[in-house]
Amino acid sequence: MFELNNIVRKNILSLKPYSSARDEFSGTEGIFLDANENPYGTYNRYPDPYQLELKSLVAKEKGIELTNIFVGNGSDEVIDLLFRIFCQPGTDKALTFSPTYGMYEVSAAINDVMIIKVPLNQNLDIESDAISPYLNDEHLKLICICSPNNPTGNTFSKPVIEEILTNFNSIVLVDEAYIDFSKEESLICMIEKYPNLVVSQTMSKAWGLAAARVGFAYANAAVIKLMNKVKPPYNISGPNQKNALITLENREQYEKNLRSILIEKALLKKALESIQIVLKVFPSEANFFLVRFENADFIYNKLVEEKIIVRNRNTVVENCIRITVGTSRENQKLIEELKKIENEKSIIYR
Ligand code: PMP
Repeated sequence: MFELNNIVRKNILSLKPYSSARDEFSGTEGIFLDANENPYGTYNRYPDPYQLELKSLVAKEKGIELTNIFVGNGSDEVIDLLFRIFCQPGTDKALTFSPTYGMYEVSAAINDVMIIKVPLNQNLDIESDAISPYLNDEHLKLICICSPNNPTGNTFSKPVIEEILTNFNSIVLVDEAYIDFSKEESLICMIEKYPNLVVSQTMSKAWGLAAARVGFAYANAAVIKLMNKVKPPYNISGPNQKNALITLENREQYEKNLRSILIEKALLKKALESIQIVLKVFPSEANFFLVRFENADFIYNKLVEEKIIVRNRNTVVENCIRITVGTSRENQKLIEELKKIENEKSIIYR
């Protein structure tokens, strides 16, 4: 049985959180002489520590309560907080899949938490049998599932994730950084059913706000309360809260950009598949493709020479490069360069 108090680190359970000036008085009118702020200037006041305006808008959009939402300094903050709340350094473990997003392993290492990396199967899917032996380990506190997965681009099936949520008595993070690009439905609708589920999303991808560092966690109110307890008091700056609000309110622009990215994605796929040095374009539910070449390092270096920067994933998936969908011009330039490399190669082979 999932029992939250049994899996939270003892020092976090007993932690008396920092109480900021804005915690103690949250009104907006008055003479504020309580936070040692400078009385002059535009950015002189501390921001709302709980980002209530932003959360209200998100709650309305998602049809959930404010108490089910945490706002992080990017969704990377969500990942780090889960390690710090649930995983005892030096003792506890976390499980993830390979290949996947690198921050789970980095956050584990920073927090001195052992990471178990279960390889995805040939279809890049989670193999239930491969993880079931780990689910009863009392030191396993966190499972990180990235869906759509970075760098492979595929989503994982809901029944498989639900099987993990049901059979595991600690926290399951489902990282949905790329969900807006996918046809699959978010798992946010399941946070009431599964008290151990944390879904993370971000404004860095489909919302085009990577610079502002705004990410979200959606979960049971008790888990969100712990995240608020541990986070730095003012984790989202005032200008970034405002930026996030303005961006979320402009849904029309979001949808327009999303449509353009999806159109460009389809064109890019077709163009990549017409190039002979491209061995495989992996199916993708995200705004990138994992692409296999004969020699990824060679292609990567050639593209860098032309100032086209892609992500060489050769060390993670053999001879693969991850390519983000750019603008029409950017994608065309990439395709032109790949065609040039192809022609040079065919001259060498002749
Ligand atoms: N999750 C995944 C799968 C990602 O690819 C990224 C960014 N590359 C993040 C989380 C972090 O995003 P951010 O901190 O910008 O929200």
